[in-house]
Amino acid sequence: MRQHSTFSRRRLLGTGLAAAAGLPFIGCANLGGGPSIGRVVIVGGGFGGATAARYLRLWGSNVDVTLVERNGSFVSCPISNLVLGGHKQMSDITMSYAGLEAVGVKRVQGDVTAIDPQAKEVRLADGRKLPYDRLVLSPGIDFMFDQVGGLGTPAAQEKVLHSWKAGPQTVALRRQLEAMPDGGVYALTIPKAPYRCPPGPYERACMVASYFKQFKPRSKVLVLDANPEITSKKGLFEKAFADHYKGIVEYRPNNELKSVDAATNTAKLEFDDVKADVLNVVPPQRAGDIARTSGLLNMNNRWAGVNWLTMESTAVPGIHVLGDATFSAPLMPKSGHMANQHAKVAAAAIIQILQGQPVNATPVVMNTCYSFVTARDVIHVASVHQYDIAEKILKTVPGSGGLSPAANQVEGRNALSWAQNIWADMLAT
Ligand SMILES: Cc1cc2nc3c(=O)[nH]c(=O)nc-3n(C[C@H](O)[C@H](O)[C@H](O)COP(=O)(O)OP(=O)(O)OC[C@H]3O[C@@H](n4cnc5c(N)ncnc54)[C@H](O)[C@@H]3O)c2cc1C
Repeated sequence: MRQHSTFSRRRLLGTGLAAAAGLPFIGCANLGGGPSIGRVVIVGGGFGGATAARYLRLWGSNVDVTLVERNGSFVSCPISNLVLGGHKQMSDITMSYAGLEAVGVKRVQGDVTAIDPQAKEVRLADGRKLPYDRLVLSPGIDFMFDQVGGLGTPAAQEKVLHSWKAGPQTVALRRQLEAMPDGGVYALTIPKAPYRCPPGPYERACMVASYFKQFKPRSKVLVLDANPEITSKKGLFEKAFADHYKGIVEYRPNNELKSVDAATNTAKLEFDDVKADVLNVVPPQRAGDIARTSGLLNMNNRWAGVNWLTMESTAVPGIHVLGDATFSAPLMPKSGHMANQHAKVAAAAIIQILQGQPVNATPVVMNTCYSFVTARDVIHVASVHQYDIAEKILKTVPGSGGLSPAANQVEGRNALSWAQNIWADMLAT
């Protein structure tokens, strides 16, 4: 029954975007033969890259798709805050790439260290070279550790965790929280926007507070935000802090982190120092390293500019950039849902380009970000973005999207379904 509804949703997603792209909807993967229409190499098997791999096979069938990912399995950032709160396990957010291989994606586990756009090939750390006709890069983010004094060394980074890429750091931060004495202080620092997942830090504060409320009720969650106010779902998070975590969560705006003393877990802010038992620093971010070393970061030397009709880089032709690494359009969040949508625009466009056909002139993408404020109560923010031909940018559609009226348990169930559906959509499970 669950499988059936997942499949139906996937069909719907596929139908909508195939129609929007001007492609025939084929319902399920047409994995038939025929000569290859081109080789596409994808770097990064996260929300953007995995979705692109699947949809290039689903919509293009005879596209030769190779996905290069350094990790052996996919670990999801969405739902990872619930692991920190003790409400989910790592096994709930860890998935294999077998579904993609089953639809004909060639998977290469490795680290891409260089791209040669003239020779049209990517190079791996182990010396392998992969030729391509079109390249897709969805490398996510890397951290600007140099912007936070005292955080430059591996030893400091092992002690003061970010846990802003799900995986070993999620496990390590949970252990730090478990080891913290009742009555201790957990301090979370948030960088100035833009950063990956605008509501994510406030959800994390709620999840850690939910753990403290039950198991360490004398403990505190101190949120040190470099921004002047909560950057997403402000009123709903303020209400959650007041209704559920009064006396546990303290929120301090305009508190930009300048440096840390990792030895004493001290956050040094502009006007004061805060010593914590567990210090969790989310550092400022930019597009993943491979996008930087490949000369793609033409926006503030931080993000990759793209043509929103195709997701092709505006710096280097033939390379499509997806997800968090892109310079976001106005009001477009850096989210897994948005990376998934970028991937579908890119997959449709690449298939058309490889066949010498015109691309869709008016793509539409959408986003929903759910946040858990308790183990069961959830809030959401949604938006729809359509290509504006005159301004050549994706703009929010007036009257679309919106916010939850209040945190509730129906959305709690929807949030878990959203996660299951998007994982199935991107990983072909
Ligand atoms: C705590 C938290 C909660 C979140 N919750 C939500 C949520 O509820 N909803 C939502 O929509 N979004 C959420 N997000 C945001 C979401 O995780 C990101 O926006 C999304 O992962 C971006 O997708 P991406 O493809 O750009 O990058 P990623 O998903 O990070 O994928 C990048 C991949 O590229 C690989 N890679 C990078 N460089 C190389 C290289 N050189 N060679 C080989 N492989 C490489 C990496 O290993 C990684 O697997 C959350 C994020 C966090 C941190």
